[in-house]
Amino acid sequence: MTADNSDVQALRPWRKIARRKTRQVKVGNVFVGGDAPISVQTMTNTLTSDAKATIDQIRLAEEAGADIVRCSCPDEESTAALKEIVRAAKVPVVADIHFHYKRAIEAAEAGAACLRINPGNIGSDDRVREVIKAAKDHDCSIRIGVNAGSLEQELLEKYGEPCPDAMVESALRHAKILEDNDFFNFKISVKASDVALTVAAYRALAKACDYPLHLGITEAGGLRTGTVKSSIGLGLLLAEGIGDTLRVSLSAEVDEEVRVGFEILKALGLRSRGVTIISCPTCARKNYDVIKTVEALEKRLAHITTPLSLSVIGCIVNGVGEAMHTDIGFTGGGKGTHQVYIAGVADHRFHGDGEAIVEHLAQLVEKKVAEIEAGKSKA
Ligand code: SF4
Repeated sequence: MTADNSDVQALRPWRKIARRKTRQVKVGNVFVGGDAPISVQTMTNTLTSDAKATIDQIRLAEEAGADIVRCSCPDEESTAALKEIVRAAKVPVVADIHFHYKRAIEAAEAGAACLRINPGNIGSDDRVREVIKAAKDHDCSIRIGVNAGSLEQELLEKYGEPCPDAMVESALRHAKILEDNDFFNFKISVKASDVALTVAAYRALAKACDYPLHLGITEAGGLRTGTVKSSIGLGLLLAEGIGDTLRVSLSAEVDEEVRVGFEILKALGLRSRGVTIISCPTCARKNYDVIKTVEALEKRLAHITTPLSLSVIGCIVNGVGEAMHTDIGFTGGGKGTHQVYIAGVADHRFHGDGEAIVEHLAQLVEKKVAEIEAGKSKA
């Protein structure tokens, strides 16, 4: 049902995930760490110098629910365009910088809410100080982003290969540079494309510091592979209370990254957004085409942000039980006569098939959403 997470956890303590206690940092108007909700990020893949294309893609991410969006800034044209992008974006924009301290300063001046930069990679102490001053002057946080694929040569020689200890040592070195410059407004990531390595690195880092952690499996792959890898890696960590913000890296559209990020959080009861469809895989007992119905409903209901649960089940074997625990339930019955449940109670029978089922359920969902929203505005 639509009870919020705290209600659910009070009623069912076995669902409770005790989150790791961390400092809290600010990325624009989004808090990360502490008791802030776990935020979902994505990254644009347009040329940042093409402000219009980048803003269009940010819109797509915003519509899917992104809390934070990151843009690469590899050149001066990109940081020049960033001002317009930041102004147009409804969500905070993180500037992704590698090595070049001037791009970091320009990005902070352009209004980036956060810089993804590793201070150990930008050269002299003076350059580091200049970047930190720009971040402080413009209320800009920093993400230290350690990646197993680009560890310092010295650490690779010390440890022989990318491993959790090397990644944590790298992260803590970068962190110390910021701390030594009296800068604490930062979060850390230690990503790898290998799930076990990523999980071990984050577990070790979580023990070694109290900074908020940005989770991700880097270069996770395409939509299916990347979703599975990210769900396992991020899911393991989140279930242990580790992680304050996340990005699912997919070779897919930005809105897919955001949707998968939310699905991971929803599956663990850590956040709720939109319609959660519970559906059966179907078998010979099904009384209508559940697979096509669910496919169509996922598209038809993608615009809804209000949390709501809907069970779409092929027959009474599991249909009644699932309907007891969802806001709206639909259970297939013989001869094209199906049972609809509202709030766990049998409400009416529906005669029909195919698109008629989709339309009927979509209308019920939209009606319920309107009631929930009307209740909220009265409260
Ligand atoms: Fe088959 Fe019914 Fe189970 Fe669906 S709920 S998988 S149709 S037995």
